Amino acid sequence: MKLSESHSSLSSLCRAVEIRLRFVDALAGLNLPIVMLPDFESLPESKDSATVRDTPFAYQRREKRIIVNGDLFPSLASDVCEAALAHEIAHALYHRSPIVIKDPQFSIALDEEIVADLLVCRWGFLDELNKERFQSYGAKYCNILKLWRQEDVFAREMTIWHQQHLAGIL
Ligand SMILES: [Zn+2]
Repeated sequence: MKLSESHSSLSSLCRAVEIRLRFVDALAGLNLPIVMLPDFESLPESKDSATVRDTPFAYQRREKRIIVNGDLFPSLASDVCEAALAHEIAHALYHRSPIVIKDPQFSIALDEEIVADLLVCRWGFLDELNKERFQSYGAKYCNILKLWRQEDVFAREMTIWHQQHLAGIL
């Protein structure tokens, strides 16, 4: 996998993530532009979702690139950035060939966001991912993340979590 960053301030992050992911066969041959933008305010995606504006990284399907929020990036810890970048790379992989993981009880396919986090765990970024997810999704989500090695248990627990999250219970 090759990451081509638009700005030298992203180089150490991109090289660190390339090295950590060099053994992931599914990523072989993937070439991804990593483009720094001043902020995400003017993105069309920001019109639909207020959370896009406050997110540090995003994957753009049509452009097949990862964008970096220049407004937020400098204030983030480097390990949190590595996990966040790995998460966007997981989205890129998902859009190249969808990864379907189903809840063993009701055969509901896991949400793309959760599949991306599962891949990030498989790629060895659990601790770094937890740091951010603890803030955004809370302890319960992080406890389920720790179950990533047991795919069926993970899928069952995440399906319940996701439904409660959508219902506003969590
Ligand atoms: Zn995502």
